[in-house]
Amino acid sequence: MVRLRKTSLVDYPGGIASVLFLPGCNLRCPWCQNRELVLQSVPEAFIPLEEALALIRKRRNLLDGVVVSGGEPSIYPALGDLIAELHGTGLPVKLDTNGMNPRVLKKICGEKNSRPDYIALDLKLAPGRYRELLPSAGPEEKTGPASFDPAAALTESAALVRASGIPHEYRSLALPGGYFGAGDVEALSPLADGGPWYFRPFSPGNCLDPAWNSLPPTGEKETAALAETAKPRLPQT
Ligand code: SF4
Repeated sequence: MVRLRKTSLVDYPGGIASVLFLPGCNLRCPWCQNRELVLQSVPEAFIPLEEALALIRKRRNLLDGVVVSGGEPSIYPALGDLIAELHGTGLPVKLDTNGMNPRVLKKICGEKNSRPDYIALDLKLAPGRYRELLPSAGPEEKTGPASFDPAAALTESAALVRASGIPHEYRSLALPGGYFGAGDVEALSPLADGGPWYFRPFSPGNCLDPAWNSLPPTGEKETAALAETAKPRLPQT
């Protein structure tokens, strides 16, 4: 089951796209606005994948591309087959990912049919802070399973994206109250390269952690100021 946004003018660079949202995620960012998607809490919001694919095929001539998003698409077991099937429509495919699954990223990028045509990699916090975002039920689990190192996963995914030859971009959210600050930008800068790095403002409303809904939205000035901190090293920010 998936969600489908039939038409988007902002999700595929320079074109009109349909966006496929795959449910579930391997992170729990408290500010996430995809609550129903991550928790799969509203089953009636989803349609069968085949129905979504049929709609994309039907609208193929109106589209410039398809975005595979989430949740986190890399936890979907048949992601490579799905991208290959979308390529069968003749449309290019953009993949949105949080970078927590470099093994899957390497596999799909290494095979002709499943290789995305564009990748958007989220840079959420300094790599050393990603443990804050792992799913956890209590204080004991706050540090996540010892065997999984999210900082290493993100670093490996970023290296894969940089070396892939696939056009790509990086995305960050300017979180309120300096939650994502210049220190995070500095720690993330070595992971980005010549690809554009976009900063977007945070808006409360439907956050995964309801406490975040009482935080103020981030202003444009604040967001731009944060982006400026990356510019000395990465002018394309
Ligand atoms: S914002 Fe975080 S929790 Fe929400 S879908 Fe993206 S990675 Fe998952």
